[in-house]
Amino acid sequence: MGAGPDDIQAETRIETSDPETTLLAAIDWLARAGNLTSIGIASFGPVELDPQSDHWGYITNTPKPGWQNTDFAGRVHRALGLPVSFDTDVNAAALAEARWGAATGQRVSVYITVGTGIGGGLIVDGKPYRGLSHPEMGHFRPRLHPTDVAFKGVCSVHGSCLEGLASGPAISARWGAELSDLAPDHPAHEIVSGYLAQLVVALQAMVQPGRIVLGGGVMATPGLLDRVRIQAIQQGGGYFQGRLDEVLSSPALGDRSGLLGAMALAMDLAQSSSV
Ligand code: ZN
Repeated sequence: MGAGPDDIQAETRIETSDPETTLLAAIDWLARAGNLTSIGIASFGPVELDPQSDHWGYITNTPKPGWQNTDFAGRVHRALGLPVSFDTDVNAAALAEARWGAATGQRVSVYITVGTGIGGGLIVDGKPYRGLSHPEMGHFRPRLHPTDVAFKGVCSVHGSCLEGLASGPAISARWGAELSDLAPDHPAHEIVSGYLAQLVVALQAMVQPGRIVLGGGVMATPGLLDRVRIQAIQQGGGYFQGRLDEVLSSPALGDRSGLLGAMALAMDLAQSSSV
């Protein structure tokens, strides 16, 4: 159906600096691209997604210096005079994996990224799910591994939530290395995969997704997806629908899922405003 990842006409990369410089450079590039009908933005978060809010399209209380309370979507909309669809980078990645990647054909799917932070997007019937805001799956609080109780976690809000225990910075804080640099028999692998497995089982319990795609830099660790699968099977006790060797998957779109998700957002907006 329609255009896809093979139809990209032009591409550029602008380094993120302060909001003013970065947004001006992006708007300038888009203005020169010409003949556009809609814009899709996949932003780092947290962001305001409530269309009723005066701050829709803003990056809100991010720790990224200078970016707090930045009007992102509205600024692009006013500068280019085009409709803008705005979502988080992880929701967009989830959308792209559902449309063109590892979760095609699934009515309900989840994409989780495990990197400098942990985030997850839930796609239901082709759309990113939103409650009061986007999901914050990385801030789910798992049961602690018995050998890991002394570690307080690195999340600035919760300490030992999943992001505080299993993100890249959490791994470095405990073991002084990236997970992929630790020997395969290092206990970090079992501890981290056990935490990630708890999110998988929680998602099965609450959502019963047809596919759960696990991506991000930490998930590139060889063998980690298999370890998560084995532990999730043990923790779940075979109770939920879907075999985890089919439900759990690596991304099919690699590190392009967020970018392609922005394209999907723009395409959906163009389609909805043309009917
Ligand atoms: Zn947290």
